[in-house]
Amino acid sequence: MATQDEGPAIGIDLGTTYSCVGIWQNGRVEIIANEQGNRTTPSYVSFTNNGRLIGDAAKNQVSMNPINTVFDAKRLIGRKFSDASVRSDMKLWPFKVRGVGDKPIIVVNYNNMEKKFAAEEISSMILVKMREIAEAYIGSPVKDVVVTVPAYFNDFQRQATKDAGLIAGMNVIRIINEPTAAAIAYGLNKRDTIVGGKNVLVFDLGGGTFDVSLLKIEEGIFEVKATAGDTHLGGEDFDNRMVAYFIQEFKRKHEKDISNNRKAIRRLRTSCERAKRTLSSTSQTSIEIDSLFEGIDFYSTLTRAKFEELNVDLFTKCMEPLEKCLRDAKMDKSDVHDVVLVGGSTRIPKIQQLLQDFFNGKALCKGINPDEAVAYGATVQAAIMSGEGKVEKVQDLLLLDVTPLSLGIRNSKGVMDVLIPRNTAIPTKKERIYTTGYSGQTLMTISVYEGERLTPRENTLLGRFELSGISPALMGVPDISICFEIDNNGILVVSAEEKLTGNKNKLIISNSYKSRLSKEEIERMIKEADKCKLEDEEYKKKMEAKIALENYAYDIRQRLYSHSNIDPEVKKNIADEVGKVIHWIGSENQLQSHEEIEKKMKKLEKLCDPIYGKDVAGS
Ligand code: ADP
Ligand code: MG
Repeated sequence: MATQDEGPAIGIDLGTTYSCVGIWQNGRVEIIANEQGNRTTPSYVSFTNNGRLIGDAAKNQVSMNPINTVFDAKRLIGRKFSDASVRSDMKLWPFKVRGVGDKPIIVVNYNNMEKKFAAEEISSMILVKMREIAEAYIGSPVKDVVVTVPAYFNDFQRQATKDAGLIAGMNVIRIINEPTAAAIAYGLNKRDTIVGGKNVLVFDLGGGTFDVSLLKIEEGIFEVKATAGDTHLGGEDFDNRMVAYFIQEFKRKHEKDISNNRKAIRRLRTSCERAKRTLSSTSQTSIEIDSLFEGIDFYSTLTRAKFEELNVDLFTKCMEPLEKCLRDAKMDKSDVHDVVLVGGSTRIPKIQQLLQDFFNGKALCKGINPDEAVAYGATVQAAIMSGEGKVEKVQDLLLLDVTPLSLGIRNSKGVMDVLIPRNTAIPTKKERIYTTGYSGQTLMTISVYEGERLTPRENTLLGRFELSGISPALMGVPDISICFEIDNNGILVVSAEEKLTGNKNKLIISNSYKSRLSKEEIERMIKEADKCKLEDEEYKKKMEAKIALENYAYDIRQRLYSHSNIDPEVKKNIADEVGKVIHWIGSENQLQSHEEIEKKMKKLEKLCDPIYGKDVAGS
């Protein structure tokens, strides 16, 4: 539960491409803008020889530092290096990923050294950034947080997201599903109760992923009926279409091919993304990039109609998973009570129109900014849990989540034995008694699976552990109790116990499969994160000291020129020293600490004291 003395709780939508943070204040949700004034922050971390950049600062310099700028950590979190999706994603990333055991590890060059980071650590850096945005806004520390994950995330991915929060030094009070959060944002769980529950379709088209979920909400219980989508479809694909179009236009106008110039393409892509956003509210926009390639300025215009034409097939593709989702949920489109828009790309008017047409003209829920709806719902949940939402608006919300997939073990017949069926409300605990398969059996292997198939092989193996030291007895005599327990965050603990002796064992998935972090690893990562933070602070202090010294030196130089009533000897002395200091600042000496710079400042101030005195008198 929330810790009372740690300040208010916040909600964070930890997105693949953009993240968003909200706080409950004055009886309502406030989505908080970052220091750049943006209400969503790129999920990017960049490592340089001058420290670490997170968010807009990291994304803005990606073309200058592509191999050390990390993004898409959400595609890696809680996954194994051998996963097919990891293997194919890796081919597209400019940063390096290596397998350590079967855990994917990101390798970058940071402060002139090779550094390795788990996806959990990259995500933790983004979580810290989002927390800092909230802290800067309210002016006090924040510790408790609700974080969202996609509905289809399995146990590993949820646990790994929680680990990211731990590394960030935060108390993750709950992990909730993104579509659930969006439905909460609209209060769909409490408005006019429909007999038999309410069916809500959540259409989430973001930067690089597309998820459709069908939720059934009844008496405060959210049940994920079905999910569908495309893990590689989103706003960035629309940006790419625009980039390809303008490369052709540049070729036509200037007879030059810019497609191999990484920096030019990055600048073009940034402009295209901006233009795309503008086209969601206007029918025409312009692109203006000075000196894009070989000193040539590039100016062009784009209409919304042209933008739609460039993406027509992709937009149509976004409607396909709707059918599948409805089919899996055994529903007709007329059974859907509400359609909720989520994700920045659903701001595109054409997407909204196609979706509305699909639902025969039904009005869509879009009162809350679609790229903020998930953070909005997470914040409502955070407020309820920290007891801040003691207002009528949220009081009547009873929030429950369900298991997205069935959980069970492989039984002695080689069949999946389900202990917790899918869509069971959590937290939950189920226990079942098993026995030995042959006389004298002292060892039992318990394999835990997640999925809907009868054949365990077709499901996902979550982990395997052994109960040894079973008292030898005739077949079928020992009572072995197997217990599945899921906490509020959807995290599973499986234990086995021989009833007679109390001999027990528990499943620790991280140790057997190495894709989950151990306690020691998390502790090490927390220390690392603190070190990175100290380094960032030192860098900030260093830069501030450097700027102060530089300003001071130039100011003195100015005064030396403009005032004649200074003794020439003193003047020369000072001018020499100022020259040296300016040279020293410009020498990019990486070893300068902020103390060293401040020492130089003091020395120079002492030397220049006389002329400041004279100035006041003489000016
Ligand atoms: P994520 O996929 O990481 O959850 P978002 O839901 O914030 O992220 O979606 C980000 C995508 O939304 C980006 O591709 C961005 O360009 C796009 N986007 C944001 N605002 C608009 C807009 N006004 N019109 C069109 N696309 C937008
Ligand atoms: Mg999202």
